[in-house]
Amino acid sequence: MLTLFPLVSAILVFGLAFFIFLVNFRSKVNLYFTLFAFLIGSWLAGSYFLINSCGNDNDIIFWDRLIYAFVVFIPAVTYHFSIVFTEKENKKRLLATSLYLISFGFLFLNKSDYFLSGIFHYKYGCHLQFGFLHNLFIVFFGVAIILSLFNLFKYYKVTNNEVKKVQAFFIFLALFILATLGSLAFLPAYNIPIYPVVYFSGFITAGIIAYAILKHRLFDIKTITAELFTFALWIAILVKIFLIDNNKEKIIDAGFLAYVTIFGVFLIRSVLKEVLAREQIEELAERLEFANLRLKQLDEAKSDFISIASHQLRTPLTAIKGYASMMLEGSFGKVPVRAHNATDKIFQSAQRLVLIIGDFLDISHIEQGTMNYEFTDFDLKALVKELADEFKATVENHPNKAKVLKISFEADEKENFSVKADQNKIRQVVSNLIDNSIKYTPEGLVKISLSKNAETEKVLLKVEDSGIGINSETMPNLFKKFGRAKSLSSVYANGSGLGLYVAKEIIAAHKGKIWAESEGEGKGSNFFVELGKVA
Ligand code: ADP
Repeated sequence: MLTLFPLVSAILVFGLAFFIFLVNFRSKVNLYFTLFAFLIGSWLAGSYFLINSCGNDNDIIFWDRLIYAFVVFIPAVTYHFSIVFTEKENKKRLLATSLYLISFGFLFLNKSDYFLSGIFHYKYGCHLQFGFLHNLFIVFFGVAIILSLFNLFKYYKVTNNEVKKVQAFFIFLALFILATLGSLAFLPAYNIPIYPVVYFSGFITAGIIAYAILKHRLFDIKTITAELFTFALWIAILVKIFLIDNNKEKIIDAGFLAYVTIFGVFLIRSVLKEVLAREQIEELAERLEFANLRLKQLDEAKSDFISIASHQLRTPLTAIKGYASMMLEGSFGKVPVRAHNATDKIFQSAQRLVLIIGDFLDISHIEQGTMNYEFTDFDLKALVKELADEFKATVENHPNKAKVLKISFEADEKENFSVKADQNKIRQVVSNLIDNSIKYTPEGLVKISLSKNAETEKVLLKVEDSGIGINSETMPNLFKKFGRAKSLSSVYANGSGLGLYVAKEIIAAHKGKIWAESEGEGKGSNFFVELGKVA
């Protein structure tokens, strides 16, 4: 009964080798696996015959030497398989060739008594005893398997291809089993008996590698199943045609065969097409992943650049703004009226630039994931009212807007508008919304209001204006980076199109909502921010 272990194992391994070969004989990985499994299968089949011929010394010598004729190639082929799988064949060809040469050397030495001589009989079988060269062979075997394991491990570590990573893991595992369990089969050469179950290690190794090759390759299996099924059908009908005497039936079967042939060819072709399409998709996906990685790196480099550039711009700008402001205040003596206007323009422009640079910095922080939020409890109503008052004062001092633009603020007196949020960031958002409404409303009103949903406890800020409105073309891009109305550049050239993008990101970090509504150009706009309690 025990002697059946190597036989069953051999049959299974040969079966696997054949199957993997059929699945895709154009793939080098499959080919080298087939070769590997063929050697393992030969070792196992040979072991079966060896165990069963223990009564006759000549037979023992014949079978054991025959087994070694296959086994001497396992190190070279295993190594070769590992470099084909890890796509290192070009770089490591020399080493692989050397291993093959050594294998051939051992094949030649296999006949010598220095390799094996004398017979060891034990409870479950028999084996030739080791000679000096056999020790060298064990070292060679060990080194080649360790090198193969090393290749696989390195590949497993560095590859970005998820499918191949999993495959590398399984193949590593399989070879490890071969190296530890399978190598026990060498022990009888050193007069140590083994229980024949170790022969199953050959099947386990081949099985795991076959599984790894097939993993995520279901479509290949589909082709092979379709092919096998069709061929089986053809052969069955052919055999039937030859076996029956009845001519009438023969003709019917021949017609049936023709029909099945055409059908089968179509079936195989369609499955092959599917496989091809899948392979193309896989390749595209891989390329896309690479492009994506590259884009991400570029994006990071860009964010770094913006962040550094913005920091560098800030210092001189602060000086420009500071001196312009001091000149306007008369710190350097009275400024003539014409120069006063120019200085005011310098001050305003510097002020805008400071805001834009702030936006750029925010964006680079957002994209690098380094935007920090400090959540505290504060009264949103007080904050919005303060901003509304500030803007009101600015508008009232504005030569063009003072008389035509009205700003109002209202909120329920009794309601509590306390929120847990980052106060400075929320100030930035609200200020941006009010600033926009004033900017894009040449005349009319800007109405700011706060309300609270009694059920959800959420606070709603609404900034309503009767300005230029937003058309349906601009609306979807409003909160995107550089999203600006096309017609705007002529009306208001100073905007950067970044403010709302930053606002959206800030509100998203608060798990709130921000959106806009407008009935169209010239019909005013409403901007809303909804904030809940942020834990
Ligand atoms: P900026 O105002 O600097 O261009 P924003 O991101 O703050 O950048 O705004 C993006 C765009 O949204 C603006 O360019 C404008 O087209 C539109 N927009 C924003 N607020 C209003 C508003 N209150 N009325 C009309 N359009 C607006």
